[in-house]
Amino acid sequence: MIEILNYIGGKLQASHTGAVIHNPEPATGQIYSTLPDSDSTDVEAAVKAAEEAFPAWSSLSATDRGRYLIAISNRIREKHDELAEAESRDNGKPLWLAKKVDIRRAHENFEFFGTGIMHFASESHPMHDGINYTLRKPLGVVACISPWNLPLYLFTWKIAPALASGNTVVAKPSEVTPYTAFLLAKICMEVGLPAGVLNIIHGLGPKAGSAMVSHPRTKAISFTGSTRAGKEIASIAAPMFKKLSLELGGKNPNIIFADCDFDKALNTSISSSFANQGQICLCGSRIFIQRPIYEKFRDAFVDKVKRMKIGDPMDPESKQGALVSGIHYEKVLSYIGLALEEGGTILTGGNAVHPEGRCATGWFIEPTVIENLPYDARCNMEEIFGPVVTLTPFDSEEEVLQMANATEYGLSCTIWTSNLNTASRMSEEIKAGIVWINCWLKRDLRTPFGGVKSSGVGREGGWEALKFFTEPKNVCIEY
Ligand code: NAD
Repeated sequence: MIEILNYIGGKLQASHTGAVIHNPEPATGQIYSTLPDSDSTDVEAAVKAAEEAFPAWSSLSATDRGRYLIAISNRIREKHDELAEAESRDNGKPLWLAKKVDIRRAHENFEFFGTGIMHFASESHPMHDGINYTLRKPLGVVACISPWNLPLYLFTWKIAPALASGNTVVAKPSEVTPYTAFLLAKICMEVGLPAGVLNIIHGLGPKAGSAMVSHPRTKAISFTGSTRAGKEIASIAAPMFKKLSLELGGKNPNIIFADCDFDKALNTSISSSFANQGQICLCGSRIFIQRPIYEKFRDAFVDKVKRMKIGDPMDPESKQGALVSGIHYEKVLSYIGLALEEGGTILTGGNAVHPEGRCATGWFIEPTVIENLPYDARCNMEEIFGPVVTLTPFDSEEEVLQMANATEYGLSCTIWTSNLNTASRMSEEIKAGIVWINCWLKRDLRTPFGGVKSSGVGREGGWEALKFFTEPKNVCIEY
């Protein structure tokens, strides 16, 4: 049994009560680790350690802080395989995916912000008789809370810019996937990150997470997770006038025009539908296909989906691993049942899978393709966050825009067309924070990342993140 511990003031420690949460491996459903069931007393200790570390950390030059981040990045790279195995085991995702995407992005995040802070500058506004310049100061102790779908990837995406810009951090990974955050704590100790600069608290959202949000001395909350939790967090933090960055749920449209590059749209749509078992906030779960190619696309898509291998995440042949938890597995299956009640037709999938051998009791679901659902059915409006997509035909740009924009969400959108005018018009009108044209998940870490409507408030990435984690102060000098 692996014992995951909190990381407070540079030391690994249990929760102050000794209480633990049991953590299962999704591929088997068997408990393999425990994590601290932390509460407000543990959070208080972490905030205190972060406060004590703040004066020295924020006084370091940007270059010196950057060097610590680059050292962490290098160590993550050295431990790439160990971290990827831990992530795959903890989350259920295929090992090859954890290697290719998750752990690679974790070291890139530290490298990107560790070097980026050396180039960060602030504005000046000259007048005819004076000049204004903007100072950007770190906020103090900030709280970072992340979800289970891309555990180390999203955890480091918040921590790295917060630390780079001179803040000290209290961070909490999801209680569903705590393992790689624990290994990150060990890495921070190995590279000699000063005690208290980063503190990692494990535990439940409504208990440990909520204590971080309501703590009077955490100055900003950077949160990625569900819209439901985002609302709760905003209701606590907004009246306390904390800075808030909320990256929330999505129900993204994948819009395929008849003039697209058919093979590229088809192959990429397999990934954008089912990568990470459909558990990526950017997955395109509503596929809209222009009527002249509807049948051709549907049949080719279903044929490919039927050939995807589901099984042990450690098997390099597995295209689909396990869903992250028993609760989530039940939720996704219930939505498949609801789709049938709503009049949908399952073209392929729809069932739980019990692979032979060690994974027989794991949480596997077939990649599922559904058609004939009204665009405003619940299964087309609510976030399922699993290996389930719907297919809907459309005729005109106006019609697909109306359907695509009909949900409460507005995170991302993918558009497939060879007509630049169509792509430009659609990009203007679609209500989303991120639009991909003839590609999906193509990422440049400098670009603003985030959603509109119930998909969130604020932007991460590049200068946006460094600006979020600093407070601007204008200084005006008269000549
Ligand atoms: P979740 O909201 O249940 O939990 C996310 C994190 O918040 C966890 O660490 C959890 O412990 C904590 N938390 C939960 N309730 C809290 C509360 N009241 N106060 C403080 N902390 C609390 O989300 P999840 O199920 O872990 O993740 C899936 C969700 O995340 C999906 O909705 C998905 O779309 C979203 N997501 C969004 C993005 C994005 O960039 N927009 C990226 C990844 C995932």
